Amino acid sequence: MSKRIPALILAALLLAGCAAKQQSASRTVFAMDTVMNFTVYGGKSAESALDSAVREVYRLDALLARGVPGSAVYAYNHGEEPNEELAALLALSDEISAAADGAFDPYLGGALDLWGFGSGAGEHRVPTDAELADVSRLLDFGGVAKGYAGQRAREVLRQNGVKSAVIDLGGDVALLGKKPDGSEWHIAIRDPNDTSSYLGTLASSGDCYVATSGVYERYFEENGVRYHHILDPKTLRPAESELVSATVICERGVWADALATAVCVMGTEKALQMRRALAETAPFDLVLVTNDGRAFYTCGGFVPADASRYTFRQVS
Ligand code: AMP
Ligand code: MG
Repeated sequence: MSKRIPALILAALLLAGCAAKQQSASRTVFAMDTVMNFTVYGGKSAESALDSAVREVYRLDALLARGVPGSAVYAYNHGEEPNEELAALLALSDEISAAADGAFDPYLGGALDLWGFGSGAGEHRVPTDAELADVSRLLDFGGVAKGYAGQRAREVLRQNGVKSAVIDLGGDVALLGKKPDGSEWHIAIRDPNDTSSYLGTLASSGDCYVATSGVYERYFEENGVRYHHILDPKTLRPAESELVSATVICERGVWADALATAVCVMGTEKALQMRRALAETAPFDLVLVTNDGRAFYTCGGFVPADASRYTFRQVS
């Protein structure tokens, strides 16, 4: 029999090859109190790459869960030395905290517990001044865990040969590479006043993390006052900036996630100042929504939704 592959079969093989490249594999998992969706494009090893990335996210969930005895964060809060990975994450958090002038603070665990936003999920209530003055500074990575997980999962996919992937971590998104057809991704940014709708779309060429923090995400009401889960480290009370949501787009997930939380604390003016100050060392873009219906964005790739209820302005 001839060793030459008949032309027809060769064409079919090539077509199959193209189709395989466009194939996607997906996985939905629940970790870090969040439904996460992984979509990986191309390659026959997509399934095993997904397995590795999902394993990594579960590992980090176990590592960073403050309320779970046996987690690295729990051990650290009970006086043990941090392991190498935790120490690195602590150093990075300190760096981001300094860059954000203290608006990001990974030691709000005690205060969060008092408000009932902690990992122990105690009752929601307004703590007394005396309780807040006396609170212990416990490590809480709630503000960066997803960013770190998204960043690590993306890295694991890359190490497994994946060139194109989207990881949706409950609204935050980690992108790897370009879309399989080489075009840009379009990410919808949630409308903080109607979370079933979106504020606008963001075009991105990939390798970035899009983190959104909002005061609408977790809150309770007492005597007609609304108390949300993003605390101002200066007062240990819910942040009182004019922002209802902040989206940060940045290459590194930990930076994006931490800064989105910090920006909700510091407000528009300080956030824009910080962005200019970090332009060389940690560049990022912002999409901000205020409590009086204004929305600011710094990136050309953002397109406001039609018939939006906001007044949009591009700023720098
Ligand atoms: P995110 O959803 O990323 O904005 O993170 C909110 C979570 O971060 C909260 O549920 C707390 O666990 C934690 N947190 C709240 N305020 C701060 C803050 N100012 N700095 C760091 N972490 C915070
Ligand atoms: Mg965050």
